[in-house]
Amino acid sequence: MRFEIAKRDGLARVGELEIDGTTHSTPAIAFVDSWKHSAPDNGLKLRQAGLAKEGDLSVAPSAFTLRADTDDAHLRAGYRGSPYAESVPNGPIASLGSISELMLDSRAFADAVDALKAGQALLRPTFCPVAGLPNRLALLAYCGMDIFDSIPLIMAAESGVYLTSTGGLHRDSIDEPPCSCPACSRGVEGKEALFEHNASAAATELKLVRHHIAQGSLRELVEARIRSESWQVQVLRHLDLDHHRTQEMHAPVRGAPFSANSKESLHRPDVERWRSRLRDRYERPPHAKILLLIPCSAKKPYSASPSHRRFREAVRNSGARSLVHEVVVTSPLGLVPRELELFYPAKDYDIPVTGHWDRDECAMVAEMVRWLVDSQGYDAIVSHLGSERDIVNPVINGCMDTSDGNPGSKPCLSKLEETLRELAVDADTVDGSERARQDIMSIARFQFGEGGTVGFADVEAKGRWPVVRILKDGVQLGALSYPRGMISLTIEGAEAISGSDSYCVEIDDFAPKGNLFAVGVEDATDDVRIGDDVVVRHRKDVRAVGVARMCAAEMRIAQRGEAVHIRHLAR
Ligand SMILES: [Zn+2]
Repeated sequence: MRFEIAKRDGLARVGELEIDGTTHSTPAIAFVDSWKHSAPDNGLKLRQAGLAKEGDLSVAPSAFTLRADTDDAHLRAGYRGSPYAESVPNGPIASLGSISELMLDSRAFADAVDALKAGQALLRPTFCPVAGLPNRLALLAYCGMDIFDSIPLIMAAESGVYLTSTGGLHRDSIDEPPCSCPACSRGVEGKEALFEHNASAAATELKLVRHHIAQGSLRELVEARIRSESWQVQVLRHLDLDHHRTQEMHAPVRGAPFSANSKESLHRPDVERWRSRLRDRYERPPHAKILLLIPCSAKKPYSASPSHRRFREAVRNSGARSLVHEVVVTSPLGLVPRELELFYPAKDYDIPVTGHWDRDECAMVAEMVRWLVDSQGYDAIVSHLGSERDIVNPVINGCMDTSDGNPGSKPCLSKLEETLRELAVDADTVDGSERARQDIMSIARFQFGEGGTVGFADVEAKGRWPVVRILKDGVQLGALSYPRGMISLTIEGAEAISGSDSYCVEIDDFAPKGNLFAVGVEDATDDVRIGDDVVVRHRKDVRAVGVARMCAAEMRIAQRGEAVHIRHLAR
């Protein structure tokens, strides 16, 4: 048996499971083949060890009837995690353990997912029996489950339940089947036809799940599907709030654009990472001493929107441009300093805008504004906000309100310009290139932490935003590019980062000739996420620079697959 991961989206993956020369795309359903409900001809089949045919997934019968001839089954008896039977080590396929108990306890389920995925079993194909109803497949795949069985589809058919991607319906209540599969087209008469439909509904949903994993957008499907069942909402909340570390480790540093349309969007791993990274790493550009709080815009990046063009015109006309720190107040990210507006997900999210803020959003924004003001030491604070004003202004002592809640109006824009002009009198202004340099250093610090702070101190910025080359003593360390929104390093840039032991992948003593594969990786620093620019080095000797295709946790245990997509090799 062989399992290769082809696409990743958080803990979810599209994989290839090969058994005896037959390959199946995962996440997949392994069909139980019984006299009553036969498995589809070309699907993956689940059969008892000893009776399994070539290409089948074999399962040991039970821990109570443990026999020597089932020791080489793909699924050993221990996968059920029975509290009554002797504990048997897992086979080549991992599982969560006692699934029937976990289905009764969402917290225990989330804990079990975290324990499994934070450990050595991360890269093994993972079996999730009994739970795989169509409306749960998105969440279960999001938890890193790869193989489901057909038992819940059979049980539903036997109980007269017609399954859909948003939950089950009683067969007898349906006048017109909401599906066009062959069984539904015939009218879904009898339990076998109902099973045929249920299997079709699950197969269709799995195709959609695989599509979203490939696009990096599974989280949005999950947030939609979990609405069908409280248990699922609870599991996602436990994963987000209790197990953020594992979830964040696997979230790419630059993911797909998304709509933050649910309460759970506020705690997406990439959104939480944004806020914690601001708190842990952020320092304002030194000359940006006047804080200007402004609302977000639907169009991204914000600076391309008509409203932000007007704000920027007022800032420019005031003559205070180099002194003003524009910071966008927004949900679900909280705050976006202008210089970080290209960094994922600042230009890649959408939210429903009604002017109503819920309590969680209000608390989050107030907390972030309080942190910004307390930590960054501004000389003056100007609030030019819309509906955010009532949340933000009470948090700040002595802020000047220039918007009256209507930031786009001409009188308010004039008031903004005039206020900034007055604040800039006698202030120590700097030229545009100095401010651009400070903005780039801020991005480097946000992207690379300590490595960016130390390695990119005293750099110069050349070019026209958002395409900027970064130089130090005439040598290029990297470039800011659009739409990537991040700094791409040169070998010299990698050497500058390497000194702080940040974003480093350690290899054995060899010179990479092309992309770096996991088998060549000895270790990686904890900060490496998929999509990060990383230094490839042996001890302190930099050998290459490129983009991580795996996070640090995966690089440490993987033996196959591309670990770093190399951009430059050391000469
Ligand atoms: Zn159907």
